Amino acid sequence: MRILIVEDEPSLARQLRQTLESAGYAVDSAHDGEEGQFLGETESYDAVILDLGLPEVDGLTVLDRWRKAGHRMPVLVLTARDSWSDKVAGLDAGADDYLAKPFQSEELIARLRALIRRASGNASSELVAGDVRLDTRSGRVTLAGEPVKMTAQEYKLLSYLMHHKGKVVSRTELIEHIYDQDFDRDSNTIEVFITRIRKKLGADLITTIRGLGYSLEG
Ligand code: CA
Repeated sequence: MRILIVEDEPSLARQLRQTLESAGYAVDSAHDGEEGQFLGETESYDAVILDLGLPEVDGLTVLDRWRKAGHRMPVLVLTARDSWSDKVAGLDAGADDYLAKPFQSEELIARLRALIRRASGNASSELVAGDVRLDTRSGRVTLAGEPVKMTAQEYKLLSYLMHHKGKVVSRTELIEHIYDQDFDRDSNTIEVFITRIRKKLGADLITTIRGLGYSLEG
């Protein structure tokens, strides 16, 4: 899962990035509205954290432009404390959720998880495919009840496929959603991760669809 953070306050932006990366997300950051708008239009994100008070272009305008251009990724807006008018304006502009500053990072992560889950049509925080269970809260994966150790990249890939169970996911889509912008994206590594996941969780879990990509059935 790949997240865009649009936040101009350097220390908060840094803290958000660290929190999200340690929770297993690939993260891109923008520090003003113009850069944020551009990334949101040109890259693929599973969710966006958008501050409203931004230099160049303010957050509400960015959000409004995204929605008018048909970009529908889940957006959580960060508002000033107790500013009910910000919250209303954010929701009206097409935000999916909001959080008032200052906030606890645990709450941010929980809200983000819920947004991503809802966007992919999953109601529960535990994703299930056959004997495989992935708990999006703890980041734990089990096979027939036994814990399975996954590397960060294996987890990201498996999590994306489990969020999109039953759909064909192309290699390009996987690359776009599990790596951040700065990562050296080599599409061959996807195949390597898939092979490792099959070894750990069973050869039948992920099907290769020739010329199209991968599908996880359950
Ligand atoms: Ca700000």
